[in-house]
Amino acid sequence: MMQIPLKSIDEIQGVTLEGIQSERDIVLRLLKATLPVASELAIKAAESSTFSPLAIAANAALNSVITLVAAATPKCNLAAPAEDIDVRVDSSGNMIFRCRHNTPHEWDLGGRRRP
Ligand SMILES: [Zn+2]
Repeated sequence: MMQIPLKSIDEIQGVTLEGIQSERDIVLRLLKATLPVASELAIKAAESSTFSPLAIAANAALNSVITLVAAATPKCNLAAPAEDIDVRVDSSGNMIFRCRHNTPHEWDLGGRRRP
């Protein structure tokens, strides 16, 4: 189970979204539904073997999240110019948001900045 309350990516400080609002609203709603599933799978998969059914399911779920996050077009405004934000999985299986600034900014799924 998720240990932290999920924050919608548009609620994270330093993050703004671009694109058409009506489409963005759909993407954010689907992301909110998909993220907890993908996040739990990623954590379980980190404890599993590489090609286990769980790991394969986790990979498919992660790809859905990556695509949805890209569709939300999040930008990091913590440095100029603003840069895109992607989803990554750390070695413990924790999903994080990370921007493409030269010195990347990272957030956990609860919207807290990571050091
Ligand atoms: Zn950044």
